[in-house]
Amino acid sequence: SIDKLNDDMRRMLMLFEVSNEGLFEMDGCGRIRFYNSNFYGKFDIDCKESTLEEWQSLIHPEDRETFDMALEDHTKNRLLSYTSQYKVKTKKGNFIWIEARGIAEFDEEGQMTLMLGSHRDITEHKISENRIYNLAYIDGLTGLYNRSKLDETLIMNISMKSPGALIYLNINQFKLVNDTYGDETGNRVLIRVAERLKQRLSENCMLFRIHADEFAVLVTEAISAGALKDMVKDMQAAIEGRVTLKDKVIEVSTSVGVCMLPMDVAMPEELIQRAKLTMRYGRQNKENRYTFFDTSVEKSVMQELHMETGIRSALEANELYLNYQPIINTEIGEVTSFEALVRWKSEKWGEIYPDEFIPVAERTLDIIDIGMFVLEKSCEFIKSIRTETQKALKVSVNVSVVQLVQSDFAERVLGVVDKVGIDPSALVLEITESLTLDANEDVLGRLEKLDASGVAIALDDFGTGYSSLNNFITIPMKSLKVDRKVMEKAMSNDAINRFITSVVKLCHEMELKVVAEGIENEDMVEKARIMKVDFLQGYHYSRPLSEDDARAYILKKQG
Ligand code: C2E
Ligand code: MG
Ligand code: MG
Repeated sequence: SIDKLNDDMRRMLMLFEVSNEGLFEMDGCGRIRFYNSNFYGKFDIDCKESTLEEWQSLIHPEDRETFDMALEDHTKNRLLSYTSQYKVKTKKGNFIWIEARGIAEFDEEGQMTLMLGSHRDITEHKISENRIYNLAYIDGLTGLYNRSKLDETLIMNISMKSPGALIYLNINQFKLVNDTYGDETGNRVLIRVAERLKQRLSENCMLFRIHADEFAVLVTEAISAGALKDMVKDMQAAIEGRVTLKDKVIEVSTSVGVCMLPMDVAMPEELIQRAKLTMRYGRQNKENRYTFFDTSVEKSVMQELHMETGIRSALEANELYLNYQPIINTEIGEVTSFEALVRWKSEKWGEIYPDEFIPVAERTLDIIDIGMFVLEKSCEFIKSIRTETQKALKVSVNVSVVQLVQSDFAERVLGVVDKVGIDPSALVLEITESLTLDANEDVLGRLEKLDASGVAIALDDFGTGYSSLNNFITIPMKSLKVDRKVMEKAMSNDAINRFITSVVKLCHEMELKVVAEGIENEDMVEKARIMKVDFLQGYHYSRPLSEDDARAYILKKQG
């Protein structure tokens, strides 16, 4: 039959030659003739007398099943036309992508008697398709799957209630690596971690980098808690330890949160967040290196999860309000200012304290709006009590570092001061030291702008955590607040007492005022006086008060 068709095909062949496609013909016994050698010349086949087996042997092993199935579908199930994409080995030994199309003829018994078809090189197309896929689903830095891929995989996973596990992995103190050695070194650590993870990965796992130093492993098969524990331990052992980068040696350790699947969630986001909060809960409360989401963790994780979404609506629902705690001038014993402290009275969970929800609001960035709310209310408060008392009282407002890194922070603060119509010097902004702050030129610029406009800066929580001498010199501050825990220690520890005393002296030399926090009794007042602290704040004078009580407090002291 092949020869019979030859004449009719001559013209068609010429067309195929110019379009660089291949034309083939196969009979019922699997004998193939490949026409235009222009195209088929690149394969190691005998064009005139070849067979299906010979062609099949050139197909990439991972595509063979696709090929066989498409062919079978066509010939056995008598589908009218046939298309299939697969990779074929060339004479040079590399594989190129082929798109095959064919049409078959069948005899009365349904046996295929003839197939006529074409082959086209679609490698270029596949490469760009692949590139698009990579852009969308592969993390550029590590080559692992990215967050989008995880979301998509989890959508399927959740809807099918597939068994397995989601392992969330975070590198401890990674920010410190970035801040200390720079982003480039940080990136190299991430690449190394990804490589180590890849090496340990078993077949039923997918590996993702979700964001920054957050990794995830999705186990796509049922797995026992015991086996999962071993897997996690093995993974952590593989990643942890020293990473040597040229001249630097960095110690890597990790924290892990694990959710066994299926889990009753609607969205990937929920599941990832659950695993993440489980990790964080374990790290903070149990100092665990890995933690499973179970009933012991559930309550606190769920509350935190609710807080994250709840904080967003708290502002709109008017659930946030302010308390004001008096700050007393040590010498004259009179209130000179108030610190504004935010409170959240949640309809669902009752009273929530800022130590609990501020860190959450910082993570969700809601602190930016909350901060503006606090600022505005505080300015209104100080305006009204200044009018009432005719005294130059001040208000201190706590500012999160998340607010400080906003480029328009200074403008927004001055905008509120202007709008409410208070003297800028009535406002004090309390900032806490952090790595982000240390020598951050942009933040310093903003603080300088505020300082130049008359708004005072105070350094809060002095003596806890991160204290840098650099900040003393560079931050344009007017006062320093010694943390209450440090004051408490200074009461019984002579060395700390002397240290704070000399800090006060140093501050005075630099024309800074010192505020002591957490003054709870007469004894502390006395000791703070000896230290020459300028201002005192604490329960001994007053707890944080409602706005009305704060007003009454001044009047009482006056009268
Ligand atoms: P902070 O700025 O150091 O505020 C002082 C905290 O110490 C307040 O706790 C206050 O109620 C408490 N305190 C005052 N005197 C005493 C005392 O004599 N004994 C004891 N044990 N505690 C005393 P609060 O209101 O729970 O606030 C905790 C932290 O939350 C604040 O620490 C501040 O860092 C943050 N915060 C509060 N309000 C805001 C806000 O509006 N914005 C931001 N960014 N952070 C806020
Ligand atoms: Mg404060
Ligand atoms: Mg403080």
